[in-house]
Amino acid sequence: MTDTRVTLPFPRTPKYGPAEKTAVLKLLDSGQLSEINRGPATNALEAAFVRLTGTRHALSFNSGTASLHAAIHAVGANPQAGVAVSPMTWISAITAIFQAGSYPVFCDIEPDSPNIAATSVAGVADACSAVLATHTWGIPARMDRLTEATDLPTVEDCSHAHGAIYQGRSVGSWGAAGCFSLQESKAVSGGEGGILTTSDREVYERALTLGHHPARLATELTLPELRPLADTGAAYKYRMPALSAVIAREQLRSLPDRMLAAEHNLAVLRTALEEFDAPVAWPALGELSVRGWYGTPLTISVRVPDPRKLHEQCKAAGIPVRSLYEDWTQTPLLQRPDLAARYWPHVAESPYRPPTSESLPNYYKALRQMIVLKVPQIPAEDYMQQVAQTLAAVLARTVLTA
Ligand SMILES: *Cc1c(COP(=O)(O)O)cnc(C)c1O
Repeated sequence: MTDTRVTLPFPRTPKYGPAEKTAVLKLLDSGQLSEINRGPATNALEAAFVRLTGTRHALSFNSGTASLHAAIHAVGANPQAGVAVSPMTWISAITAIFQAGSYPVFCDIEPDSPNIAATSVAGVADACSAVLATHTWGIPARMDRLTEATDLPTVEDCSHAHGAIYQGRSVGSWGAAGCFSLQESKAVSGGEGGILTTSDREVYERALTLGHHPARLATELTLPELRPLADTGAAYKYRMPALSAVIAREQLRSLPDRMLAAEHNLAVLRTALEEFDAPVAWPALGELSVRGWYGTPLTISVRVPDPRKLHEQCKAAGIPVRSLYEDWTQTPLLQRPDLAARYWPHVAESPYRPPTSESLPNYYKALRQMIVLKVPQIPAEDYMQQVAQTLAAVLARTVLTA
């Protein structure tokens, strides 16, 4: 049992297949890779995201980070009141808050999910101008609880959750805006890229002013307070390359099949782990909800004495684990306002306070107890059986004997 390991290779098809290749060649033949107005490539991708999320608008960006910057600005975050955010997210979701002229106010996650807790948001809402909720590791955040907890505008970071649904409604359509990274590691890739979704015309137009000058601003800005920006926009250059747009459009077409395959693979894994009596618990999804895919989190239900060692042993046994994010709250940029103020001078005058660990017990527990597994997006039953058997063996000799 001690040398149980995953010997089968991770089941995958090439990241970019014939459909992407054809689309890229066709685009090259058109001779138009830069769409300064809403050109055919970005238009098709934005329309596809409108259909995916059921929002009225989708706006393309050259990165997920750029879309977050624009969204946080567009919903009205400001320097006097912060943005409630959980540290269980990618660092650029946090730094985008500074970039948009505000500052992060850290909230704990839920005890049974990797997502920001509505109760924690309610506790800081008076000192905040917005909420940023990541659907972390594809698990949809409980948007109904968040909307009940506060009237603040919410930006959803959907970068782990393309295609996910919470209570019958797509992620990216619950909040004032949704942001999807199309970076290569995400379920829908354009190589690089980002999409902002919203049903609020004002949010859409305010987001346009950050980086879609000049032609698109001139055509699409209608609000009187924004029209004076029609020639200039505001400093950033955030347009998506047409190459990224056509690739992401093809990736979106194959997403439903890949999600179904991953869902089936996860079910095989869960059943097998149950048969092995492995000490694992799964985050609750809730009714009428569908997870997205950026790995999938599970919680070890007995105390993990040494999380780093567990991660290393999983890797050594060939289990496809994804690293949890570092503890950003302790990183110098967030601990030292003088460093942050070099890049965002408003921080020196803002009420920003470096985060402390006492207010984040669930977050620290998750860092110790949670692992994230990469799940193949093509049928892979034998592989999942092997992963389950190996994971059960690793847990038996590490956490269960500790
Ligand atoms: C990838 C990611 C981002 C940043 O997206 P980029 O396209 O790399 O700029 C932001 N938030 C989360 C949660 C992410 O996973």
